[in-house]
Amino acid sequence: MVRELASRLGVAVPVLIKQLMKQGVMATITQEIPFEVASRVAQDLGFVVERPKSEEERFQERVRQVQAARSPQAARPRPPVVTIMGHVDHGKTTLLDAIRKTRVAAQEYGGITQHIGAYQVELNGRRITFLDTPGHEAFTAMRARGAQVTDVAVLVVAADDGVMPQTVEAIDHARAANVPIVVALNKIDKPAANPDRVKQQLAELGLVPEEWGGDTVMVPVSALRQEGIQDLLEMILLVADLRELKANPDGPAEGVVIEAQLDRGRGPVATVLVREGTLRVGDPVVAGTVAGRVRALMDDQGRSLPSAGPSTPVVVLGLEDVPQPGDTLVVAPDEESARRVAQERLERLRTEQLRPTARATLEALARAGEQEAQELRMILKADVQGSLEALRSALGKLAQEPVKLHILHAAVGGITEADVNLASASGAVIFGFNVRPDANARRAAERDRVEIRTYRVIYELIDDVKAAMAGLLKPRVEERVVGRAEVRRTFKVPGVGVVAGCYVTEGKLLRGGAVRVVRDGVVVFDGRIGSLKRFKDDVREVAQGFECGVGIERFQDVKEGDVLEAYETVEVAPAAPGVGAAGRA
Ligand code: GDP
Repeated sequence: MVRELASRLGVAVPVLIKQLMKQGVMATITQEIPFEVASRVAQDLGFVVERPKSEEERFQERVRQVQAARSPQAARPRPPVVTIMGHVDHGKTTLLDAIRKTRVAAQEYGGITQHIGAYQVELNGRRITFLDTPGHEAFTAMRARGAQVTDVAVLVVAADDGVMPQTVEAIDHARAANVPIVVALNKIDKPAANPDRVKQQLAELGLVPEEWGGDTVMVPVSALRQEGIQDLLEMILLVADLRELKANPDGPAEGVVIEAQLDRGRGPVATVLVREGTLRVGDPVVAGTVAGRVRALMDDQGRSLPSAGPSTPVVVLGLEDVPQPGDTLVVAPDEESARRVAQERLERLRTEQLRPTARATLEALARAGEQEAQELRMILKADVQGSLEALRSALGKLAQEPVKLHILHAAVGGITEADVNLASASGAVIFGFNVRPDANARRAAERDRVEIRTYRVIYELIDDVKAAMAGLLKPRVEERVVGRAEVRRTFKVPGVGVVAGCYVTEGKLLRGGAVRVVRDGVVVFDGRIGSLKRFKDDVREVAQGFECGVGIERFQDVKEGDVLEAYETVEVAPAAPGVGAAGRA
């Protein structure tokens, strides 16, 4: 309260109010003011401000102390953590199984293999940790949550099929994370296998095999027949060795939750990958917003362990609730403080202060454009290969501007959740040309505050990027989606043309309003709603949850499964910091 603050600072109320006005804050004598404002004013008046420490700050301080106490000299080599990626059906799951089966000795313990999200295998006395959820989607989703655990990516490419869209995506996702790639040329047992062709395709993408003078390790394997697995493991270790992966097993543990669920008998169960230190039974811990005390630790064969060191995946029992994958788990000094930190985080989450901080937006980049070493990271999605190439070459010509342009991923197709996760993990902006985000991508972008900009004219996209790079991004017309509808059936109406029988899933459709026809994320037509009917009646609008018949002006090619996206355009003032403009979806 202003009065209270004035008396504590020993200044007259009008003096304080004047100071507040200088800060642009209009306050009355009985008004509550935020801590930040109060402290700035107090500082202006010559005071030294000390903020009461929160539980979190005290906890983080302690974590830093623990980290500082870990001497780098005591760090020892740790097993690499590996994620398997690749196109669907190229054999990721089969390969994970084949690798797991190399653990013959382990069977002697009589343990029954359980899926816990990760497992370890041994080769010549060294261990490798495999994450058991294959695919770059899971990899990047974890990264978007701030947890990068993978050290080496194994890219599975079926030798009979070659490079496919998700192969390219996986490469881009691994590269954006700076994770080295080992290629497994799979299915070499198949008569149609053509490893040389695959190598050629990969070389074109910058993954040049060693035997051709490049530095990408490629290992022919047959996951199905379990051939070449040993070689693959050896190569993974070799590539990992170049990274000199080390961790210090001393001291309290830090780890990352990679999987978690509620087990009927055992309560909350989380698989944690230990990063540093050693996790022990009895340790009080905090994982994200969840506190607990480690009641038991188990490996992926159900054997109980007294402790787990770096790169070891373990099942942790004893948490009070189910944490989120990607949460960090940290050992706390005692159960009480673990609980207090978890409670404070939960409260902050409720007031939404834990939302991710403002991500990269084009405006933010434009404003920061003056500074050196600025980089505009982008993900580019387009309707067809031709426009993608045109965009790429036009953007390539902008290279000498003060801001560096880095295209993390460029592909044909609609904007997906994987794109949003990649943008979120890498601080990138997504540009779509004649494509739209699907429902999952929209939700994820909303949640992670990732900017999606969509365009229908190539030079507008180029102009915006150019302007952003030069720090001159102008506000412009914003598009707002007012409704979405699914096309469930189509009818030919004599004299009228094709009418789409739709179900409005969101917002509303307006007769005469602008509408886009979106097919698999690609905009196939952009025009107006010519006719709108409920049963036999012409209507002006149809709201969410209702069915209707839609005729689109000058467009007869509407198909079942298409999405109609109704939108309007509004003039917008210069965008506020951190808020995307132009076609923000
Ligand atoms: P994922 O979608 O990448 O996980 O692929 P899967 O592991 O499910 O494999 C897809 C299909 O390819 C399955 O029918 C496998 O049996 C088959 N497959 C996987 N690896 C091999 C292999 O090395 N040789 C042959 N012939 N088939 C394989």
